[in-house]
Amino acid sequence: MKILYVSSEVVPFAKTGGLADVAGALPRALAEQGHDIRIAMPQYGSMDVDQYPLSPILGEINVHFHNETLGAAVNSAVLPDSEIPVYFIRNDPYFNRKGLYNEKGVDYPDNARRFAFFCMATLWMLRALDWKPDVIHTNDWQSALIPTYLKYHPDLKTDDFYSGIKVLYTIHNLAYQGSFDREILKTIGLGWEVYTLEGMEFYGNINLMKAGIVFSDEISTVSETYAREIQQEEYGCGLDGVLRARRDQLTGIMNGIDYTVWNPHVDQLIPVKFSPRSMGGKTRCKKALQKKNNLPVNKEIPIIGMISRLADQKGFDLISGIVDEMMKLNLQFVLLGTGEPKYHDMFEKIKTRYPEKAGINLTFNNRLAHEIEAGSDMFLMPSRYEPCGLNQLYSLKYGTVPIVRKTGGLADSITDAAPDSVKAGKGTGFVFEEYSSKALLDAIKRAVDLFHNDKKYWKKLRSNGMAADYSWGASAKKYETLYQKMTG
Ligand code: ADP
Repeated sequence: MKILYVSSEVVPFAKTGGLADVAGALPRALAEQGHDIRIAMPQYGSMDVDQYPLSPILGEINVHFHNETLGAAVNSAVLPDSEIPVYFIRNDPYFNRKGLYNEKGVDYPDNARRFAFFCMATLWMLRALDWKPDVIHTNDWQSALIPTYLKYHPDLKTDDFYSGIKVLYTIHNLAYQGSFDREILKTIGLGWEVYTLEGMEFYGNINLMKAGIVFSDEISTVSETYAREIQQEEYGCGLDGVLRARRDQLTGIMNGIDYTVWNPHVDQLIPVKFSPRSMGGKTRCKKALQKKNNLPVNKEIPIIGMISRLADQKGFDLISGIVDEMMKLNLQFVLLGTGEPKYHDMFEKIKTRYPEKAGINLTFNNRLAHEIEAGSDMFLMPSRYEPCGLNQLYSLKYGTVPIVRKTGGLADSITDAAPDSVKAGKGTGFVFEEYSSKALLDAIKRAVDLFHNDKKYWKKLRSNGMAADYSWGASAKKYETLYQKMTG
């Protein structure tokens, strides 16, 4: 099958979150299953073109919006260690900027135009390359206009080249919807016919996420529980009704992870490699992590790691409610994250108050992310909601026991350490249900107590997690089935 995978971020070229990891890994698994899969993404100014040189493939293509024609160039590279072509849509005024979507926490005011242009240029590129995919797999609001253009753009909908192409739209996070002033419609090549209740109208605005949901052939999201949750008002971000109406086209498929990158046995970024059969390296990684964070070096004190966007979604309000109680426990806490200023302030204060217990790193640093996964004993994800979550899956592989709230992909991937389930080889972490500081504190206490008081049980819990398999193969098969359903 011929598949075009469209994403606004792809590891290793550009990343702000989990979408990039998925976009850099799922296409590999699909290529291994014999599909001709190619990727399209914008060419950002922040990309390291020395490390990943690009070759020009299309000098100048004309991208027709309504009353204007803009230029785009297309460069290409292969996804490292694969033969998968990645097409980079270049338009410097739009994409040669410091950030992907924002700078210093402020969204670019022309984001609607930028990503509408990306979608449109991607479609015109296919024609210029004369490569017609059977399926276009789009992701999140940034590429959600692709099905809209195929159905409603005056030039595209009447062009035989595009007829019969099916579109899968994957929701990675329903909360980021790409909602814009309706007047923008005129400037992105669409007419008022899409501005309806059944179309992309949303409380007087246009909503690109909604366009993806209503105009694509099939919809997927990144865990089975999240697929159910987003049809409820509590998690639906205003789109639960729209999703319920399309429930027969909505599938939950858990993300996998790339074990060539996130695997302590081969990880080039950690101080000492280790595996289930030789865990000595983990102790040395812990020591290095303690040193790097100016914490007392002591293997008997458990480290709770956390790597996260500092956003409300991730449960930081729960942490803020129990900082002092948590810090009274015999533990160390190492955080890596950037995001909302209020949480930067909160963690700056924690660092000042608890220099001997807290390592606070308010940056984006991939190497440190690997070091924290390797060197921590536990990993904290108290999310309010979590479409899939990747870090709990990485944590399992690194023998770092997750403490999670029972929601979305966290609920689907972590089994609580109740005595029976641990013995049966199933228990892999500490799970709490109620979204409250107290429930979180109880879970942390359970984890810390077990670490201190029952080493044998702790080791069993850890090895259960390390034995779990979240490689992409099984999930890629489910995507394949979905593509077949659409094209069959
Ligand atoms: P989300 O996509 O909601 O941010 P995920 O858990 O799905 O959450 O994916 C987050 C990804 O981003 C993980 O690979 C995580 O390691 C990475 N990440 C998040 N914050 C940072 C940071 N400050 N430095 C390095 N990596 C980070």
